[in-house]
Amino acid sequence: MNYEYMHPRDELALTLERIYNYKMTTTSGGNLSILDDNGDIWITPARVDKGQLTPKDIVCVRKDGSVDGLHPPSSEFPFHKAVYEARPDIRSVVHAHPMALVAFSCAHKVPETKAFPTAWNSNGKVGFAPYGVPGSADLGAKIAEEFRKGFDSVILENHGVCCGGRNLQDAFNRFESLELCGKALIKANRIGEPGFLTEEQIRMQKKSYCKPAAFEYATDMMCIKEKELRCELAKFVKRGYRQRLLTGATGTFSARIDEDAFLITPYPLDRQMIQPEDLVMVRKGKVQRGKNPSRALHAHRAIYEANPDVQCIVNAQPVNALAFSIVHKKVDTYSIPESYVFVGNVALLPFEVSFNDYERLSETLTLKNPAAVLENNGVMLVGRDILSAFDQLEVLECSAEAIIDSQSIGGHVPMSQETIDELCDAFNL
Ligand SMILES: [Zn+2]
Repeated sequence: MNYEYMHPRDELALTLERIYNYKMTTTSGGNLSILDDNGDIWITPARVDKGQLTPKDIVCVRKDGSVDGLHPPSSEFPFHKAVYEARPDIRSVVHAHPMALVAFSCAHKVPETKAFPTAWNSNGKVGFAPYGVPGSADLGAKIAEEFRKGFDSVILENHGVCCGGRNLQDAFNRFESLELCGKALIKANRIGEPGFLTEEQIRMQKKSYCKPAAFEYATDMMCIKEKELRCELAKFVKRGYRQRLLTGATGTFSARIDEDAFLITPYPLDRQMIQPEDLVMVRKGKVQRGKNPSRALHAHRAIYEANPDVQCIVNAQPVNALAFSIVHKKVDTYSIPESYVFVGNVALLPFEVSFNDYERLSETLTLKNPAAVLENNGVMLVGRDILSAFDQLEVLECSAEAIIDSQSIGGHVPMSQETIDELCDAFNL
């Protein structure tokens, strides 16, 4: 499904459903809008249950101020309008009260988005609008003032957040990555001192990608193994999104077809919508013509070349493991048998390694010790198949959450060496 072909009614209803289903707003809070080419604003209605909203509930406020729809427009329509007037490049606004960003708004702080590249690349610096009565022209003026300064995402004092974008998907990606950033920072502060990307690291990351050459791809070249892998990989990417292991715009999965070829997730297609045909084939370092592969393809290729047993590779930023990556700590798998058996010793790698030191990356990630925390960039895992890599990712994220939660009840107690030796014997580790 391509958003570009959707009517604003459908796109708004679908995106609001997504925000509500992933607990990023309540039944009463949150509103989204799209400014169309005629200058009309399509917006979610006031006083309609967010859990049951349908496309026909969306309201259109015409350029002349007349309202077309079954309901009145959202009571926060004035600030949507004010943002569009302040910034002609913004054509969609997402406003909601997601918990982590509300926490920042109550603490009168903005999240430092240099915590990881997606948050920074998507949001840049975040603005802060002083308090105004919800729905008032005064609040609209205060929010619009922040957007006028050039901020694309603004925390609203003691209220929530407002993100703008060139279209709804762009605004939603900002909103989703900023809430992830807020959550990860709150968790990171419970386990250590957050570290942030330096200007040099940001420059290096942006320059590190070189576009590979392309080869002509024809569907009749497809072997049965490729078909199977396309279906399975697409299924797991969507599941990873549902399980909150990936965001709409981030997270890379790849799977090996043979010694020269693998499939990898595209860039920057919405992870929730990925279909088998969207995956990109990479053969001998060349990419299927007309497709945009994930930026991690060079790192994945190096790992496949160095480790013939590795069949699947995952990069992800699930919130709890991401918190460890922000404080530059390994997830301690010595505390839970399941973690130790499935994930082994987790490595900690400097931010730069996954961009420019593929040798170290390939030596670190093996089937014996398949997981690494990448400083300020989430985690990377390898597996003997797609299912095992996915399972390891889930286990790692659950372990990270348990360890973070144990900090407020006295801290975690690692297993003794004797217990670990016993595990190694029992599971042939
Ligand atoms: Zn609100």
